[in-house]
Amino acid sequence: MARIRERIDSACLRAKRNPQEVTLLAVTKSRPIDQIQEAMSAGITAIGESRVQEAIKKYNAPHILKNAHILTWHLIGHLQTNKVKEAVKIFDLIQSVDSLDVARAIDTQAERIAKVQDILLEVKTSPEATKFGILPEDTQKIAKEIARLRNLNLKGLMTIAPLVDTPESARPYFRMLAELQNKMNARGIMHRALRILSMGMSSDFEVAIEEGATMIRIGRALFEG
Ligand SMILES: *Cc1c(COP(=O)(O)O)cnc(C)c1O
Repeated sequence: MARIRERIDSACLRAKRNPQEVTLLAVTKSRPIDQIQEAMSAGITAIGESRVQEAIKKYNAPHILKNAHILTWHLIGHLQTNKVKEAVKIFDLIQSVDSLDVARAIDTQAERIAKVQDILLEVKTSPEATKFGILPEDTQKIAKEIARLRNLNLKGLMTIAPLVDTPESARPYFRMLAELQNKMNARGIMHRALRILSMGMSSDFEVAIEEGATMIRIGRALFEG
């Protein structure tokens, strides 16, 4: 944790940013519950999971549930429509909204439990990184539709950069996401400006911070570093 924080601080210094603007999300997918507890003891307050079923199991584990109020839960993997109902029950932020259909399904389920669900749109900034995500050119149109759904609160954008040889090669994808968000905010198509830019993982988070990330999603560098 100390080493990661140091690297976040240096990246912020280079970019003349305040480190407090950058939330460190610990990605705990496929890691056991005792490692989540360890992360919590080290000061982690936000965790990211890829699968709804796995997240629910962990959420309901007695040792976690007891401290559930300390953590915020983030879904970062593709969400299937038939898992939406469960996802809305536990996640504070669904980062991987990758279609208008899934956004509508989340809105419907959120309304049923009187919740306004915070979401991010996952943007496919490169053809090869993942199969999921909204195309950059479709993002504004979809955000406009989402603005009409009363049980959704769109808070920002998320992307996964492709696996590249050097962190530097990921920069254009992060820059593209930041520019897209700026453009959307300038046009004022949402009720509120988008503030969250979730981008950067173990291999490229410093470059993402330099390009304006407000949330980095770190797995390997925290748990295997
Ligand atoms: C697994 C995962 C991460 C974390 O990746 P690391 O390389 O382990 O840091 C971040 N974001 C998403 C969407 C992931 O699936």
